[in-house]
Formats: sequence, structure tokens, C-alpha cells
Amino acid sequence: MQELRDWLAANWDPDLSLLEWRRRLAASGWAAPTWPARWGGRDLPASAASTVAKELATFGAVGPPDGVGMNLAAPTLLEHGSDELNTALLPKTLTGEISWCQLFSEPGAGSDLAGLTTHAQQADGDWLVSGQKVWNTSAHHADYGLLLARTDFDAPKHRGLTYFVLPMRQPGVEVRPLRQMNGHASFNEVFFDNARIPADHVVGEVGGGWTVALTTLAHERRVAPTGTPPGRHEGRVWREALGEALHLRAPYKWYPQRAGRVDLLVPQARAAAVTDDGVVRQEIARAVSLAWTARWTAQRAAAARKLGKPPGPEGSLGKLASSNVARAAARAHAAIARADAMLAGDDGPVHGTIAEILLSVPAVSIAGGTDEVQRNIIGERVLGLPKDPSIDTSLPFRDVPKNPEVRRR
Ligand SMILES: Cc1cc2nc3c(=O)[nH]c(=O)nc-3n(C[C@H](O)[C@H](O)[C@H](O)COP(=O)(O)OP(=O)(O)OC[C@H]3O[C@@H](n4cnc5c(N)ncnc54)[C@H](O)[C@@H]3O)c2cc1C
Repeated sequence: MQELRDWLAANWDPDLSLLEWRRRLAASGWAAPTWPARWGGRDLPASAASTVAKELATFGAVGPPDGVGMNLAAPTLLEHGSDELNTALLPKTLTGEISWCQLFSEPGAGSDLAGLTTHAQQADGDWLVSGQKVWNTSAHHADYGLLLARTDFDAPKHRGLTYFVLPMRQPGVEVRPLRQMNGHASFNEVFFDNARIPADHVVGEVGGGWTVALTTLAHERRVAPTGTPPGRHEGRVWREALGEALHLRAPYKWYPQRAGRVDLLVPQARAAAVTDDGVVRQEIARAVSLAWTARWTAQRAAAARKLGKPPGPEGSLGKLASSNVARAAARAHAAIARADAMLAGDDGPVHGTIAEILLSVPAVSIAGGTDEVQRNIIGERVLGLPKDPSIDTSLPFRDVPKNPEVRRR
């Protein structure tokens, strides 16, 4: 990493604009060190990403943008995008000049994503798309959407799908924010009414969208922006970067709370003078021990990846563990704060943070695959149990029974 340190010493200039700095960082290859050199990277192994990010933070330099663009769109385009599409979109994704959202889930297609019905058909050489998506993080400020749509109702459900890059800023696209029970509005529903997609915005093959979607899903680890590193934040670059972060992160302020805030359990028990209550002690011990074992599992997985081993079952185990930790922590917080846990805002403990925890932890058991779906994956792929019976994967999608037909029987 001496090469990066030398480069930063010669090139970091806090008086540049954020865009000027990000362009300079991108041109050096350090903005995306694990990308292929031809797309602005340095061909470094996956393990280099966190090392480079740490070096940038330690030096006090602003890093590349965060969010759906870098975490989902870029890896998907790098694997499946055409040269034309990648040339048009990757450089501006790397500098943060364009932003992205993911348009997968629908009201009737969440766990059963391949059952989606938003459809696209060819017209005048372009594609016209109609239908509805839901739960779309960042759709309210995105320039482009990663869209999975049905293009063939006569093919079996996984084979009639096509993956598109949809330009969001057009009359056929309407984005409506959804307000959650914790008071924040972090997600959207998106309606398409003959929204237009240029012919060359297909990613992969027409009808081959499921394969491309699996690449996106494999990278679906974090779509909300991460925190600003501690340290010096001086100069124009940081001013603009912090402004950008404030704007992008505002809808996700509650994300730490949805993980259960295990870190607050002991301080809150002390503040409420309940540390000698046997039930409270049991609840805290349960949540903390679950959190520690989950962290060790994650560390074992990271160590295995560093050694070049393929991802194992730790992904599903980790996802399920994070739900269990969040729920156990919420129970412990309720035991500590008792009825005060229901008070929101400044009337409640920690300015309403405890109430926000109780209202936010259910999200962990749903987002990114429900607990039940994770258990199915663990059962089938880890324990080797037989697969769930399925009647709908070989029929043409048109003939797959859907809710109204099911009700008529
Ligand atoms: C906070 C949050 C953020 C999200 N962000 C995004 C986003 O950015 N982009 C996006 O596209 N989507 C997003 N989603 C959508 C999310 O992926 C879906 O909500 C999730 O996959 C579940 O789908 P569903 O809501 O349709 O529930 P369903 O799939 O209808 O499930 C209903 C219930 O049935 C159970 N179930 C379903 N199938 C099975 C089965 N085979 N075996 C056993 N039980 C089953 C489920 O576990 C659940 O309890 C988000 C959701 C949440 C809550």
C-alpha cells in the first residue's frame, strides 16, 4: 500500500471540488482497485478493497461514492454489461455523477422474485415497460434503475425475464415514497406506464435476466451509504462530501437501530438501575452472546475468503443470525426500559432511540430475504434436506396458477 500512500501524498488536494477529486481518484485506479484495469480499476484481488478503503480513511481522503451504484450496478455491469453500456455508465458511477436504484421486488413477487409480472415489450426498436415495483431504496433520487421485467409470458418463469438499465427521469416513471411504522420514509413504490428503455440498455441476453439478477443478488450486502470515517474533514472536498452524505443518508438514519443496538444494553441497564434484576441480566446475556457468536462466524467467513476459499453457508447463517440478534436485543431493551420503551422522541429513553429500535428490528427479518427463506436455504444447501416441492418452474408462466385462479378453485 506504499504506492497508494505515495499517490495520496502527491495528489490529495482538499481544495478541489468533490467531482474533481473523484475524477482524479478514478483516473488513478484507486477508486475501484478490484475492477479490471480496462474499466478504471487495478485488477487487485477482492481482499484489497477493504485495505484500500482503510488507507484512504487513515490518510483523511474522501473515497468513492457508496450505495446501489458501486455495490450492485457496477459488479453486475462488469460481469454482464456490453462494452457500450459499460463505457457510458461505469465512469460516471465511479465518480458519483449518476446514482442508481434496484427495481426487483413487486407487491406479488418478493421471496418468489421470479414470479414478477412487470413486463416490457419491443416498440420502434426500444422497449416499453409497464407495471409496479415496491420497496425500492434510493429510487426517489436515482438516475438509473436495475430493472428485472418479464419479456416472455410463454417461457417458464425463470426464463422469460430480461434485465434492463432503466432511465428513471422520464414521464413514464412515477416514484412514490412509502412511510414506515418507525416514521421514516426510506423506500418507494415505482410505477411504470410505457416507460421507454433504449434497445442497447439490455444487460446480458433477452430472456437471460435471471442469471444477471443472481449476480446482483450475490452482491446485495449493503445498499445504504456507510458512515463517514473519523478524523480530519477539512477543505472543499470534505464539505461537499459531507453534504452529499447528509442528503443520501437522511432516510437511513434508523439503520443502526434495526440491528438492535446491542451496544446500548449495558449502559441502559445501568442508567435504569436494573443491573441486579435477574430477568434483565438473562435477556442481556442472551443478546450479547448471540451477537458475539455471529461476529465470530462473520470473521471465520472473512478469513476463509482471504484464503481464496469460495463463499460457504455463512451468508445465510449470518443473515439469520442478524435477525436473531436484533430480536433478542429488542426484547432486552423492552425488559430494561419497560413501558418507557414505547415513548418516542425526547420523551423516551435515549431521545426515543429505544422506541425506534422496537419499531425497526422487524425489517431485518424481511429485507434481503426473509428468515423463513434463509431457513429453506440452510435446510437445502447446508443440511442437504430435499428441496421444497415446486409445480411452477417448468410450465409457461402464462399457465402458472396465480392468486385469482387459485381463489376460483
Ligand atoms: C426494510 C426493507 C427493505 C427492502 N429493500 C428492498 C430493495 O431495496 N429492493 C427490492 O427490490 N426489495 C426490497 N425489499 C423487499 C424484500 O426483498 C421483500 O420484502 C422480501 O423478499 C419478502 O418478500 P414479500 O414482502 O413479498 O413477502 P412474501 O414473499 O410474500 O412472504 C410473506 C411470508 O411468507 C413467507 N414465505 C414466502 N415464501 C416462503 C417459502 N418458500 N417457504 C417458507 N415461507 C415462505 C415469508 O417468509 C413471509 O413470512 C425490502 C424489504 C424491506 C422490509
